[in-house]
Amino acid sequence: MNVETSFRKEIIYLINEVLNMGLDRDVTLWKVSSKWVNRCFNCTLEGIKTICGGKCCHSQSYYPPRAGKNGMCDFLDMEKGCLFSMEDKPIICMIYPFILNENNTLVIHHRSMNLHCKENYGSGPRFIEALRGGLEATFGKPLVDYISEATELGIDPYFEVDKNILETVRREEEWAEVSVNPQPRTKFPVESNPKDGISKVVDRLLVLRDVEEFSDLVEFVEELHENGELTEGLRFYFVYRLESITNI
Ligand code: SF4
Ligand code: SF4
Repeated sequence: MNVETSFRKEIIYLINEVLNMGLDRDVTLWKVSSKWVNRCFNCTLEGIKTICGGKCCHSQSYYPPRAGKNGMCDFLDMEKGCLFSMEDKPIICMIYPFILNENNTLVIHHRSMNLHCKENYGSGPRFIEALRGGLEATFGKPLVDYISEATELGIDPYFEVDKNILETVRREEEWAEVSVNPQPRTKFPVESNPKDGISKVVDRLLVLRDVEEFSDLVEFVEELHENGELTEGLRFYFVYRLESITNI
């Protein structure tokens, strides 16, 4: 690993430490496991056509198909694919086979690995890249870029989840529980969001991920200090990091 990569890795690690400790108490953080998303996964158009045939849309072991009348999702057209637009498609479909576990970590649905996507694992792009279209439409490109970069470096990134996404996922889980069809997302009012749904913490994180200079890092530490967010543990870590950075 060259110095620059190692430096970036440390910075991203640091950002995660800060996020994990909660800069803003009123946020929900989700985490992504790099171990999973660095695997190859062929959920591409080519992979769907030649390997799985999009089984997740007509597998009764999965919702929304479970709520369908003919053993497949009611919104699946065999010629056109999903009839929902990107704006209306359920979030659980947009990010599938990512599912959220009880530790607020996005993991790969075990049924996908053992059943309907089984043959799609082991070839194609990295998992995070294979799902990029749906993830970007859900979380925004900058955040997906960040997750991709951090996981490539072997870090498990945390990120703040937009309240509208949380509310939508909660609604979809309720529908899944009683096996009723999902409704278009645009039917539900959306609370106003900061800047394209990118949250405060993520904004801050995006600035930090471009830290290249020693002085930027010092500035960040000072800002944390001014806001009373520089805990003893972090202070120790920063001193250690600053010392080692000056030696680079
Ligand atoms: S809503 Fe669309 S993506 Fe989701 S299962 Fe149905 S057809 Fe597939
Ligand atoms: S999630 Fe799995 S079954 Fe569905 S399209 Fe992708 S690879 Fe195929």
